[in-house]
Parts: sequence; C-alpha cells; structure tokens
Amino acid sequence: MFNMEIEVKSQNDDELVLIIRDAEIPFVNAIRRSAMMSVPKIAIEDVNIIRNDSSMFNEVLAHRLGLTPLVSSLKHVEGMALADECDCNDFCPKCGVAFSLNAVGPKEVYSKDLISSDSKIKPVYDTIPLVKLKEGEELKIEAVAKLGLGKDHAKWMPTTVCAYKQYPEITFNENVEIDYDCADACPRGILKGDRRSKKIKILDIEDCSMCKSCVRASVNNYINVGYQENNFIFKIETDGSMTPKEVLLKACDELGEKSDKFIKFSEGGNK
Ligand code: SF4
Repeated sequence: MFNMEIEVKSQNDDELVLIIRDAEIPFVNAIRRSAMMSVPKIAIEDVNIIRNDSSMFNEVLAHRLGLTPLVSSLKHVEGMALADECDCNDFCPKCGVAFSLNAVGPKEVYSKDLISSDSKIKPVYDTIPLVKLKEGEELKIEAVAKLGLGKDHAKWMPTTVCAYKQYPEITFNENVEIDYDCADACPRGILKGDRRSKKIKILDIEDCSMCKSCVRASVNNYINVGYQENNFIFKIETDGSMTPKEVLLKACDELGEKSDKFIKFSEGGNK
C-alpha cells in the first residue's frame, strides 16, 4: 500500500523540482509522459514565405519559427481548440493566431520582429535570433500559430526537461579503512573528506547523479551508491511558454480525464 508524499524542493518560473516519496515508477512515468505529450501549447505551424533574400533556406527559417516559444499559459489559450478538433476549413481565431514578419537589411532579425494578431500570444523572449539580413535583403513572411500537442511534434512540447531519478542512497562500509580517494573522485563535489573527524560528509545527496565514480575510485570498497526504490526526484523545466506548475497541473488533469474514461468504460462493462 503506497502513501505518496510530495515536497517542493525548488520552484521558479522555468523550473520545478519535486521530491516524491512512496510512489511507483509507472505512476511517476505516466505524469512525465503526460507533461511532455498531452499538454496543449501554441507554436507556429503554417508559414508562407513571400520573400526571403537571406542566405537561409526557407525550410530552415520555417523550422526556426516553429521552434520559437510562444506564450501559451492556460489563461491565454483558454477557449482555444486543437487544430485537428476545430471545425473550420483552414484556421480561425478559435484554433490559430496569425503572425507577420517584414524586415529589410542590414538587420539581425529577432523573435521580437514577429508581429502577432493577438496581443496575448507572442514570442516568450524578444532576443531569439532568427536570421541575418545583409544590405538591401528583404524578408516577408506570413505565419499561423496553432494549438497542438507534444505527441505530434516537439515544437508543441512545453517542457525542455521532464525527467525523474530515483532518490540516491550512499552508504559507507565501516568494516574497512576510510578511503578519502572516493571523495576526491566525485565530479560534483558531493563528498567531502574530513581527515580531522575521520569522516566523509555528504554535502547534497540530491545532486548525486549515481555515476559511481566514487565507487570505482575506492579500491577497498569503502563506499557504495544505490537508490531508494520508491522515492524520486522529479524535475520539470519549460521553454517559458508556460510555467512548470501549469504544465504539471494540466498533465494531471489530462491523466485524470483518461482515468475517468477508463473507469466509466469499466463500470459500463460490468452492468
Ligand atoms: S555516484 Fe557520482 S555523483 Fe554520486 S557521490 Fe559518487 S561520484 Fe559523486
């Protein structure tokens, strides 16, 4: 019987780190997959390049535009429909946002030069370089951003990192002589040998990558590194299009909806 507990290790606008205790791998992995694949986000999907005098190929430019993060927080995309669920023919304000880009060189074209038809949906960062124009070169583009899911294309994935690791566990063999070499071998500076107190201190166990460099460095097997089976460190980092907290909430909602469908189906089948 699992009695899961969750603690926030750190949180800011781009990164959220949780300590999850007493859970199972399939559950934590389901949250991870839902965050990456099932949280809707806006990204440029259709690009009409009317003029491109730059040395960059049209395909590369379109790819760069697609990967430019656009503000997609839940309050901004509320009421919008996924492109393939909208009943319009091409795009409408319900499923898409139009962008235009007009520039003449000499100029470094940045994401801030993308002009949105909706003041709320715009590039997250102003300073993403898109292309360089030489004297007299011209760029004229029309584009449409649509709501999509990470399972269809990485540009619709709000997460740049979404991963977990089992909670590291470091133990020392008290039956052999203390081996300070293992502390010196740690590339992350997690272990600190204190020759006065004849101890090796663990400074931040949660930063341990379980690389086992310390274990390999110890000739007398003084140190051992393992992990706790049902405790996890879970990290979500986003591209700024939405906060990690929003991603996590939406991921849980999506998972909950799928579970509800399954429950309803099972109940119906039992009648
Ligand atoms: S497993 Fe790697 S990161 Fe962890 S304490 Fe050992 S050397 Fe350092």
